[in-house]
Amino acid sequence: MTDSRTSAGAARPLHMRVVWLPDDTVRDLYVDGDRITSEPVPGAETVATGGYALPGLVDAHCHIGIRRGAAPIESLDEARSLAHTDRDAGVLAIRDAGSPFPYPELVGEDGMPRLVRAGHHVAASRRYLRDIAIECEPDEAAAELARQAKLGDGWVKLVGDWIDRSKGDLAPSFEPEVLTAAIAAAHAEGAKVAVHTFSEEAVACVVEAGADSIEHGTGLSTALLDRMAAQGTALVPTMVNIETFDDIAAGAEAKFPAYADHMRRLGAGFADVVREAWEAGVPVYLGTDAGGGIDHGLAAEEMHLLHTRAGIPAAEVLAVASWQGRHWLGLPPDLGDVVVYDSDPRSDLAAVREPELIVLRGRVVHRRS
Ligand SMILES: [Zn+2]
Repeated sequence: MTDSRTSAGAARPLHMRVVWLPDDTVRDLYVDGDRITSEPVPGAETVATGGYALPGLVDAHCHIGIRRGAAPIESLDEARSLAHTDRDAGVLAIRDAGSPFPYPELVGEDGMPRLVRAGHHVAASRRYLRDIAIECEPDEAAAELARQAKLGDGWVKLVGDWIDRSKGDLAPSFEPEVLTAAIAAAHAEGAKVAVHTFSEEAVACVVEAGADSIEHGTGLSTALLDRMAAQGTALVPTMVNIETFDDIAAGAEAKFPAYADHMRRLGAGFADVVREAWEAGVPVYLGTDAGGGIDHGLAAEEMHLLHTRAGIPAAEVLAVASWQGRHWLGLPPDLGDVVVYDSDPRSDLAAVREPELIVLRGRVVHRRS
């Protein structure tokens, strides 16, 4: 259940001669409706005669239902506008990792990035950002995740830990058996489960329980990374977001000094965690956590951090941030999505900051003037 092919109506076919980064080959590509082909299409308009191209970036942890300041959006227009900000930065597919405002109407809309929605976040009562999650008691969590599984596009989002103010530190949202049962309930409905974790304790439990992707994952250990690699559990590290841990710690210091100290330590060790995940063979994908505390349109910044802080080679960052990420989300490889850069992003990833041309669902949506 992913965003389907758009019937691109009267869009004129497009032609481009580019270095196609997924196979490192100079190719004549034709975009005919919402489909890419190497077969010449009569009457195609040539829109690029050079440059380096890929099928768009993927922000695999993004929230177009949450506005800056961590409040729910209030209209479809607001979600659309946030998604367009990401799109104009080259992001043509979004896995929405939880939205308090449902927007199924936008799936498949012309001009919208491909959307893979996770429904509404599920969290423990009074243990998440106010007004963002469906908050549950332990005996409600499994049923709620099963319900959310029917409302998204094949994913659900579980908040696995958060500050426990009674303990003054991070703690799992639920007991291990509740987290495990909740993940199993979503799987039984055919959904994959993305789990937010910061702490060591929560991530150990949800990796064991077979979560499909770990979001953030600052508390991951070597043993858990090996287990993730073996079972194919992905990591979406959201390094842009983890960069804010010192600020979160500073804000919490007076009331919750142990939590502040814990967050600082997790933040300081995180580049090594991502590097080790990569080296262990864990599938690592790009996610910015835009919405709430992080601006939209920061995919290039996250790629920069994956490369410079976690040491992932630029060509590999491009692969996971684009065609491999799309494959992971179940998007067909021949959809009519292309982003062209004028210089080679494998030599300097900064090239992805300024797309030259963006084609989405078979139509030009951005051209650098
Ligand atoms: Zn998030």
